[in-house]
Amino acid sequence: MVKDIVKDVEVLSKPCEKATIDDMPIVQDLLDTAGSMEEVAGLAANQIGEAKCVAIYLTDDDQMKPIFNPKLVKALYPVKMEEECFSVDGAHKVTRFECATIAYEEPVDGKLVARKREFHGRESQIIQHVIDHCKGKVI
Ligand SMILES: [Zn+2]
Repeated sequence: MVKDIVKDVEVLSKPCEKATIDDMPIVQDLLDTAGSMEEVAGLAANQIGEAKCVAIYLTDDDQMKPIFNPKLVKALYPVKMEEECFSVDGAHKVTRFECATIAYEEPVDGKLVARKREFHGRESQIIQHVIDHCKGKVI
């Protein structure tokens, strides 16, 4: 279902709870909502009003993939850049890491499977952005 984007900083500033496979309906809502907007690179659950650590992100081959409970494990090569967020007006200066090792879970055959891998460039940036949302950090 297409949801409204939350812009209330108080709601967005609350750290999100761990997500489980039962939160798959949120993934569908994220996909529906992103599909109704233009140029979405990533969207976190709390941006549609669900305080759970789950998000979707655009992969380098232009697919929207869900990511559950992502955590930054290792980060290399900080880069200062400007970023936009659907929940906040304007562009904002942030530091992102060109290369980030992320521990996360993804749904496979009806259950969450733990993964850990290195992301680079744009994917890495998007995932760092949604991790901040999960932590209740707004740019
Ligand atoms: Zn954002």
